[in-house]
This record gives sequence, C-alpha cells and structure tokens, in this order.
Amino acid sequence: MLDQLSISQDVRDFFMSVVIVGAGHAASQIVSSLRVSDYSGAITIIGNEPYIPYQRPPLSKQVLAGEMLLEDVYLKAPEFYDVAKADLVLDSHVESIDRDQRTVTLSGGDLIAYEHLVLATGARPREITLPGSALDGIFYLRTIEDTNRIRNYFRPGAKLVIIGGGYIGLEVAAVAAKAGLKVTVLEMAERVMNRVVAPIISQFYQDIHSKHGVDIRTNVTISHLEDNGNGHVGAVICGNDESVEADFVVVGIGGIPNTELAAVAGLAVDNGIIVDEYARTDDPTIFAVGDCTNHPNGIYQRRIRLESVQNASDQATAAANTICGKPEPYCAVPWFWSDQYDIKLQIAGLSQGYEQTVLRGDPKSAVFSVIYLKDGVLLAVDAVNNPRDFIQAKKLVAARVRPDPAVIADISIKLKDLF
Ligand code: FAD
Repeated sequence: MLDQLSISQDVRDFFMSVVIVGAGHAASQIVSSLRVSDYSGAITIIGNEPYIPYQRPPLSKQVLAGEMLLEDVYLKAPEFYDVAKADLVLDSHVESIDRDQRTVTLSGGDLIAYEHLVLATGARPREITLPGSALDGIFYLRTIEDTNRIRNYFRPGAKLVIIGGGYIGLEVAAVAAKAGLKVTVLEMAERVMNRVVAPIISQFYQDIHSKHGVDIRTNVTISHLEDNGNGHVGAVICGNDESVEADFVVVGIGGIPNTELAAVAGLAVDNGIIVDEYARTDDPTIFAVGDCTNHPNGIYQRRIRLESVQNASDQATAAANTICGKPEPYCAVPWFWSDQYDIKLQIAGLSQGYEQTVLRGDPKSAVFSVIYLKDGVLLAVDAVNNPRDFIQAKKLVAARVRPDPAVIADISIKLKDLF
C-alpha cells in the first residue's frame, strides 16, 4: 500500500510542474509561496538576465551610491533555490508559448513543458524617441548593468541631466548630488512626482533637492539631444532652445509592461496582462503576476497596474495559493516607498481621483503626512519620515474609514485612535 502511494506520488510529481517566465521579485516569491504551501511538483524559473532574482529598489539608492554589494541585492541566497528544488535557467529569453502543447520555447530553441505557467515578466523603461536619443551616454535604470553603467560616469563635477522628475529620476538625483555631481532635472509637468503625490509633497521635494544643489526645471519640453562631436551626448536641448550641458543623461519617464509574449500567445492584454483576483489569465493554466499585470483591486473597485515590490510579492503569493488549490483573492492596500537623501517617503494606498487633502504635521519639520480623501473616504496617505502614520494608514485605507478632516489634521491624535 505504501509503495503504491509513493508510486502515485512520483507519477503526480512528474506531471506537476510550474514554469515561471522572468526571474525577478515575483518569481522569487512564487517559489517560496509554492513550497510553503507544500507544492511538490517541479519548479523552473527562466530569466533573461544573468542573475538570480534580485531587488531593484536599491539600484537607484544604495547600489548606485556604492553602499551595497551585488550579493546583498539578491532576494534569496543562491542555496535557497537548491533547497527549494527550483531549477534556474538564466540568461535565457522565452520567445514563445504554445498553449496547446503547454510548452515554452527558449531563445536557443529548447522547449520546456509546463502544467502551470506563470508570467512574471515585469516592465521595462519607457524610452525617449527624440533626435539624438541613440547617442552614447544616455541611460535608463532597470537592471544591475544599468546601475553599473551609470556609476561609471560618477565623478565630482560631472554634469548629469535627468529627464523625468519621477521617483527614479529623483532618487538618482539625490545619490548623484551627494556624490558631488552637477545635477539638472528636466520635468515636463508643472511639478515633480506630479502623477502620484499632492502639490505640497512635490514642493517639499523640490525644496530639498534645491538645498542639495540640484537644478529642478519644470514645464520643460525636450527638443533633441546634441552630439558632443564624438557620437556621445553633450547637451540636452529644450523646446525653448535652451541648452543644458550634459556629460551623461539618465531618463526616467515611466515603465512599459512586458506583455508581448502574452499578447502573441493570444492572452488578453490591456496596459498589462489581464488577470483576475487569483492572478489567472483567460487561460486556466497560465497566471501572471507583478509589474506586467492589469488586475482588479478590491479596495478601489477598479483595475490597476502597479510597479511595486508589494504588488509583485502579494500577487505572487495569490498565484501560488491558486495553483496549490487554496485560492484566496488578492485584495491588498498598495504601498510603496522612496528614499531621497535622509528622507523616507512611504505611500499607503492610491491617491488618484482624490478631492481633498489634509496636511498632518509641518513640512518644515520634515516629519509630516498628507491624507487624501474622496467622498469623505480615506483613499491614501503619503507619510514623510513618519513610519507610525504609514503603518496605521495601511489599515485605515483597507477599512475605508471616513475620518473627520479636523481630527486627522491634529497630530496630537494618533491615527490608530480613528478605529
Ligand atoms: P522584475 O523584478 O522586473 O522581473 C521581471 C524579470 O523578467 C526581468 O528580469 C526581465 O528581464 C525578465 N523577463 C521579461 N521577459 C522575459 C522573457 N520573455 N523571458 C525571460 N525573462 C524575461 N518598488 C517599490 O515598491 N519601492 C521602490 O523603492 C522601488 N524602487 C525601484 C527602483 C528602480 C530603479 C526600479 C527599476 C524599480 C523600483 N521599484 C520599486 C519597482 C520594483 O522593483 C518592481 O515593482 C518589481 O521589481 C517588480 O517585480 P516583477 O517580478 O514583476 O518584475
């Protein structure tokens, strides 16, 4: 009887397999979550970078500053994948999916069969397509190599022009300014981080950067990038013909989800691979997780695409639970952070569509929060050097509380007392 049991287990294991495309944040979490849920089938991760899954947030922070070593950015130690019996196929790009045969084809022509396929392909930087954008010395920041290339240009006095005043651009500006570079940020909108934070937070960060010598210019359009005579960028030319000298340029103007593999395979795609709250695509054997997905958010009752570690990790766990036959809907409060100089911005929830903001604390003290409300409901909180508010904010957003604005503006009242 025991023998029969073990044979049937072996047969089951032979057919059970999860293949993960993309070796990033979400992939590493799926491996953990599958094994925690006692998944006994084979797991294969196929990634087109030469590294085991690593953290991207430090790339624009500690790694760029030279404060963190490569082995410290790995999400799990290399031995983890041995212990978890997860095969890593690195430096390999998945070219196509055959949904009828349930196989993926690698760039070298190899086929790998799956029972369940998880697309964890992430996002890539949006590129500029202006004249001169193919010159040398123009960089984007997504990978370890990108960070190394940018760091090679770091020397005191070097002129760095950053196109885009979003999180990545501003984090690079902070690290570069601290390293003694001459930094100019060119932002198309009227203020930095325009899409994600209220004007008061934008102003706070513009002031901080100015204090560190960063030249932030807003309402700027870019006409082209100028050759220094050697095929290398020498200046960024703005729409008003103003020329900003550049030894190198970093572009941070948002991300594009890597959905091509899914789209060619006939899966539904619309600003991300369309999945449900269990991370399932419209093919029951194929899941998608992380930056590449467009998924429903139960708290905001709409579909969203997020580029955040929280989303990659939590959605990966949801996919693993579904694969293991214990489906639990993914319904999390999105959260995010950004480190610039010695200031930590922590964001709980999504503020898009807000009607009212409430300031809690004084920006001059560099410890404050901005609370976003819509129809009286607390949508999101941006906490600046204020981890206590941030922790409570996640719970308040989840509970969809309707606070009295006068009460939440009063810093003598703790946010946890709102429950
Ligand atoms: P990724 O980690 O991007 O992994 C996807 C992998 O799949 C990549 O290696 C990609 O090359 C690979 N791939 C794609 N297509 C294929 C294919 N066909 N075959 C094989 N492999 C493929 N988030 C925060 O929450 N806080 C932060 O402070 C923060 N800072 C960031 C700073 C930087 C510089 C960057 C780039 C991102 C930052 N993020 C931050 C975002 C966060 O890193 C991402 O949300 C997270 O990495 C998403 O994980 P993922 O697994 O979905 O995708």
